[in-house]
Amino acid sequence: MGNFTHTQERILKSAENIAPWVQMLREDFHRHPELRFEEHRTSEICALELEKMGISVQRGVGQTGVVGTLECVGGDGPVLAFRAEMDALAIQDLCGTSYQSKNNGVAHLCGHDGHVATLLGAAKILGEIQKTLTGTIKFIFEPSEEAVPPDEICGAEAMISDGALENPDVDAIFGAHFYPDWKAGTVALKPGTVFSGNDVVRLTVHGQESHAAVPHRGVDAIYVASQIVTATQGLAAHLDINEAVSVHWTTINGGRLHNLIASEVVLEGSFRFSNESLRESMPTKIDQLVRGICDAFGATYDLDFNVRPMPAVISSPKEVRTMRQALIDGLGEDAVIDMKQPRLAADTMFHWLHRTNGVFYMVGTSDSNPATQYPSHHQKFDISPDTYSTAVAAIALTADRFMNRMESM
Ligand SMILES: [Zn+2]
Repeated sequence: MGNFTHTQERILKSAENIAPWVQMLREDFHRHPELRFEEHRTSEICALELEKMGISVQRGVGQTGVVGTLECVGGDGPVLAFRAEMDALAIQDLCGTSYQSKNNGVAHLCGHDGHVATLLGAAKILGEIQKTLTGTIKFIFEPSEEAVPPDEICGAEAMISDGALENPDVDAIFGAHFYPDWKAGTVALKPGTVFSGNDVVRLTVHGQESHAAVPHRGVDAIYVASQIVTATQGLAAHLDINEAVSVHWTTINGGRLHNLIASEVVLEGSFRFSNESLRESMPTKIDQLVRGICDAFGATYDLDFNVRPMPAVISSPKEVRTMRQALIDGLGEDAVIDMKQPRLAADTMFHWLHRTNGVFYMVGTSDSNPATQYPSHHQKFDISPDTYSTAVAAIALTADRFMNRMESM
């Protein structure tokens, strides 16, 4: 090998060697997916594997969450955390492989099975090279990341309130998300907003019911809601084209009989903005728009912008720079992709990155096999076996760069 340090060389070799074990773990998790806060089997496997590696384990952090702590021999360097989500989706798996989900109606279609397996692989390597590192590494296995109902706490919040970022305090946290948009063997990252987040908005338009034969006695809530739907798109059309934006009313329900003018329409929306100040200005803008239209037609409304706030996931520039260089040095220029735009997706990683620095990065998972090209959440979603060595190496190379005794920050 070329200009690698001894540790980098060791990491790359170990990542290659460990990839089949990581793949086996991922397929096992895929076969046995578990829904939010029911990740008992998954979290117990994580805890047992960490213990086998000599890493100290706390179970039940944030209900089913697990934290492994590796205090490296070299003393008082930085405290890094690496996070993987454990939960699956309530969707039927149709991947048609030998490792298809045995749990009817539940499936790992977002790659979380791979995130968990990869983090265990990296933990094993980092445990083996800990003498070359200074500081502490926390391995965070997070429950309940997916589609948490508005009235329920998510796994990241539960773990943080149970002290996952404390004792010792974490200096920087790193989280990966698998994506078929990039080829297996690559890692994509950017400073600033990585995921737009997603605000779930609920609007009720109150009109006045009347018989359709006497429309002057009613206020047609369906008509008013339709104006609001159309006008919302007009608002989106006037935003800066450099921003990634998705503004959509996604459910609409109202009316009770074919010959009655509807008295009430309930809409739900999914509003996503790459820019946090734009996002913060939206409740006022939407409220003005809804009020104007309702006033014009004599309707009233209730608008709830905070049904489930999911702010943007924002990577800190300094940590991105350091990690990016570590990946280029270890994996080569071609393996490291600079993301041009944020994705219009949401992830509870924002909870961690609101409290400490860190990086949310993407790991490519597709190859020439069409089975690896389905988008996340597709019922046939699958992952290229070429994903794992790169995904594992990305974590270990990053830890090495931040914590190496010879070349630490
Ligand atoms: Zn996910």
